[in-house]
Amino acid sequence: MKYYSTNKKSPKVSLEQAVIQGLASDKGLFMPEEIPSLPAHFFASIDQLSFQEIAFEVSLAFFGDEIPENKLKEIVYDTLNFDVPLVRITSQIGALELFHGPTLAFKDVGARFMARLLGYFTQRQSVVDEDQNIHVLVATSGDTGSAVANGFLGVRGVKVHVLYPKGKVSEIQEKQFTTLGENITALEVDGTFDDCQALVKSAFMDEELNEGLFLTSANSINVARFLPQSFYYFYAYAQLKKEGKSDSMVVCVPSGNFGNLTAGLFAKKMGLPIKGFIAANNRNDVFYQYLKTGEYIPRPSVTTVANAMDVGDPSNFDRILDLYGDNYEEISSEIKGAFYLDDEIKNTILKVWNEYNYLLDPHGACGYQALVDLLKEDEQGVFLETAHPAKFLETVEPIIEEKIEVPDKLQSFMKGEKQSLSMDKEYKSFRTYLLALE
Ligand SMILES: *Cc1c(COP(=O)(O)O)cnc(C)c1O
Repeated sequence: MKYYSTNKKSPKVSLEQAVIQGLASDKGLFMPEEIPSLPAHFFASIDQLSFQEIAFEVSLAFFGDEIPENKLKEIVYDTLNFDVPLVRITSQIGALELFHGPTLAFKDVGARFMARLLGYFTQRQSVVDEDQNIHVLVATSGDTGSAVANGFLGVRGVKVHVLYPKGKVSEIQEKQFTTLGENITALEVDGTFDDCQALVKSAFMDEELNEGLFLTSANSINVARFLPQSFYYFYAYAQLKKEGKSDSMVVCVPSGNFGNLTAGLFAKKMGLPIKGFIAANNRNDVFYQYLKTGEYIPRPSVTTVANAMDVGDPSNFDRILDLYGDNYEEISSEIKGAFYLDDEIKNTILKVWNEYNYLLDPHGACGYQALVDLLKEDEQGVFLETAHPAKFLETVEPIIEEKIEVPDKLQSFMKGEKQSLSMDKEYKSFRTYLLALE
């Protein structure tokens, strides 16, 4: 299957090129040329399949013509060595807990899948030569860096460079990507997250630099990062089907760059019977405003307690437009929106803790509340619980006024020793660093 650019000004490319390039040469986002439909019998018996089996079927439909079946199976089973349970909160609302991967973030699945795919491509050596590395650049405010660094750890032929703002990520997050070593380098930038992102962007735009180096992105602009997230939606449906509740499933997605939600839209286009979507936002409500008015007006992000959704210009918005041929009516009937202020998010966390003894993280809290507010009587709601609450101790503990248990997976990172390179925020310095790579 070929991939085209949402800007439609660059030639179609193979999956391999789309993954290695990240962004199309006209700066658009890659989209698969067709969206394969899955057969009726797959949906009829989906409730008898495991998460891995479902994911493998979905992957085959997308990637089966470019990756040998046994290799793809290995990639999928290797990626998904953990489960994503659907935990019931009320009879109408369930949480699909996507945070059981190695860094307790839903981004683990996309990052691990992309790492394995890229690892396969570098070994196959058709675009990249034997002794050439692919360099993955990630700017992070915390969660992306840890998922990507851990996903790519030890993958041959791929080096990861994580740029993060000095003093602006929590200690536990910092430890998750500065203690790994091997093919992972952490760059501690004397600046903000926006400065880190600007450095990465400048590097991608630097034509001379790109002549000698393979640079790619592991953000959700990369098709290999966001498409595997469609697995979640099929699995959620399978769980509801087991309960006899799959007839009118509404999925609510806490959204920032909208990679996760876009993957859900793809799942529906592949034939998955999802009745509708809800995009839950924090104070950064650019998408909500678009749904209300039909006008998309990006603006600088503001900081909230659900900081992984502090995005003022969601990078996957163009994919959503492209999927629906720019049809606002269709988009706004398919996706409903909601947004919550910090106080509302905190109230929801407290209320759900008191009433149901379930601890939400700030992102999941937006998802849960949007279902409470928008779900109709005959609908079944699933929200994606995108991170473990222990990753947001400073927010969550004061709300419930209790200490929460930090999972072993997180604690073990704390034992490692931080190693990072300090860098100023001038592109000149970053460029010098990149030029010294091979
Ligand atoms: C990244 C992230 C999100 C937002 O996901 P998008 O795909 O960017 O919309 C939500 N919650 C958490 C915890 C995240 O890390």
